[in-house]
Amino acid sequence: MSKVIAIDGPSGAGKSSVSRLVGERLQMLHVDSGALYRIYTWQALVKGVDTANPAAVAAFAPKVTIECRPEHGAIVYYVGGELPGNRIRTPEINAHASQVATVKEVRDAVTALLRSLVKFGDLVVEGRDITTAVFPDSPYRFYLTASAEARARRRQKEEVEKGIANQSEEAVKASLLARDRIDSTRKYAPLKKADGVTEIDSSDLTLEQVVGLVLEAVR
Ligand code: C5P
Repeated sequence: MSKVIAIDGPSGAGKSSVSRLVGERLQMLHVDSGALYRIYTWQALVKGVDTANPAAVAAFAPKVTIECRPEHGAIVYYVGGELPGNRIRTPEINAHASQVATVKEVRDAVTALLRSLVKFGDLVVEGRDITTAVFPDSPYRFYLTASAEARARRRQKEEVEKGIANQSEEAVKASLLARDRIDSTRKYAPLKKADGVTEIDSSDLTLEQVVGLVLEAVR
């Protein structure tokens, strides 16, 4: 049976960098579950679906087809044969993704897709409900967190470096906190620290230190 390392936490806690490196070190495939919610959001916006209307989003959800392929140590998503790339990383997608992620039909589709990925091998899966809803029985479960300031600082730097946006740290922080609020108060699979998970606060740790803690706990 495939092994799954599950990592949850709020936006900007460092889940992506940590999961990618842990996957690399342990020869496990990195899975970014947030990208799937971003793809639903992107497609809804492209098709003019009102993302604030849960019934409209629910009706639209079955029309989204995502192809998953293992490539270079990660699961990569294709939509209509194309890579979404930075089109799913814009401030506009950030502003709508949490709303789309409250819709049960979207969550059920993403959860089923994530569970199907074990066919490709061992996985490091990061998200908001991986330890609580998608792979709650995994023996390797982590909750990665950091102060709002540290998270905003990292995200803002990343957006500028990747040429995605040029927002102030304050604007990035407001957007992160708004998403945290929706993610942790929604009805279905809210973000929370589950019992029995290993919590790591990365505010004052380097990426290598966090990766070291995860590897130590897994071993
Ligand atoms: O991780 P990322 O910031 O890319 O996630 C985008 C959005 O997708 C989050 O704000 C959250 O609303 C949603 N999400 C979720 N469950 C996950 C991963 C992401 O609800 N497992």
